Amino acid sequence: MSTVENLYLIKQTLPSHVCLVAVSKTQSNDDILKLYNAGQKKFGENKVQELIKKKEDLPKDIQWHMIGHLQTNKVKFIAPFIDMIHAVDSWKLINEIDKRAKQNNRIINCLLQVHIAKEKTKFGFDLDQIEEMVEKTKKYENINIKGLMAMATFTNNKKQITKEFSLINSLFKKIQNANFNVLSTGMSNDYLIAIENGSNMIRLGNIIFGKRN
Ligand SMILES: *Cc1c(COP(=O)(O)O)cnc(C)c1O
Repeated sequence: MSTVENLYLIKQTLPSHVCLVAVSKTQSNDDILKLYNAGQKKFGENKVQELIKKKEDLPKDIQWHMIGHLQTNKVKFIAPFIDMIHAVDSWKLINEIDKRAKQNNRIINCLLQVHIAKEKTKFGFDLDQIEEMVEKTKKYENINIKGLMAMATFTNNKKQITKEFSLINSLFKKIQNANFNVLSTGMSNDYLIAIENGSNMIRLGNIIFGKRN
């Protein structure tokens, strides 16, 4: 099946409150354009260089989401245009995003990455740090913390994934308000479980594009 057919099939099954970010890392501009022409406007990338190159070559009204770990020294390259930064995982990064957003006269939408998975390698804050952080970040004028992002443990164990997504959903619901209203959980292999557990922004790559090289 084509990427566009995949996109349509998935969109048909999504509840209307769930926003789809098509994860286009490693994919060609041609394939991205096909999805764009089929109505997909939000694309997610995890490497700054690749993101910048694609932004230059592709339609200007694409909303680019930075979904991967972001190094502080690269923030300046995406600050002029990025629609949302998902994986905010340190105070250093928060300070830098705020500074670069200010220089660009922008307010940048961000999500705090929460560590819920069992793997030690995944970035993010601990669940019990988040409420305080959301409070403290309110004083930043050029950052808007819109919600939370997380990745579940890479496993086929549905119970484990459910447990992790429901944990972050409880925290999300506790803080949720008119501005803090995005829960970015769910990738190709676990997005249905994520949606059952409150996700309203899913990040899908493989299931749309086919396996990455
Ligand atoms: C690559 C990636 C995805 C998409 O993963 P798929 O399994 O291809 O759906 C989602 N989120 C992040 C942070 C990623 O790096």
